Amino acid sequence: MSLGRKKLGDPAMGDRETGNDDLGMIPLWSILLAAAAFIAIEYLVHFVLPHPRPGMFPMRVMMGYSSGTLVASYFLLIGYVSRDVKRRNMSAPLWILIVTLMPGGIGAVVYFLLRQPMLSRCPHCSTEIASSYHFCPQCQFQMAPVCGRCFRGVEITDVYCKQCGHDLAEDQAPARLRTFRD
Ligand SMILES: [Zn+2]
Ligand SMILES: [Zn+2]
Repeated sequence: MSLGRKKLGDPAMGDRETGNDDLGMIPLWSILLAAAAFIAIEYLVHFVLPHPRPGMFPMRVMMGYSSGTLVASYFLLIGYVSRDVKRRNMSAPLWILIVTLMPGGIGAVVYFLLRQPMLSRCPHCSTEIASSYHFCPQCQFQMAPVCGRCFRGVEITDVYCKQCGHDLAEDQAPARLRTFRD
């Protein structure tokens, strides 16, 4: 354990992907596809479809805009999913297919309900670990504050373990736990 702690500043930590950058998760191809689809729909609505009554112009602008943004956001969503599956160790072709084929965005809803927790890497040994882990399964590196008696997760502000009532101040706890002792 002490072995794991002192290596926190290891350079391996620098090249791991930061998981919170959600906007950077949308690949360029899907942004281009979304823009192209939007333009194509505007073109279709204004130049290809017949215009029975000339007075309907505002209505047509609204229709073109709303259907254009709908299709565009669909492409952005597929782009996002295609990258998001990879950091969760899920099957990319399967989920892109589901999100693409299920009508009305149902596929996306199913995806967001069923997706696995995000994977990150252990700062010490670079093993892939889920965000729910308290310790690295390969090198015992501590990922989150835990109770010293039952080893379940605790909040850094807790004084006693909410699972077993253990006095957390008695632990040889990480510094961030000790800060809140008084
Ligand atoms: Zn590890
Ligand atoms: Zn406990």
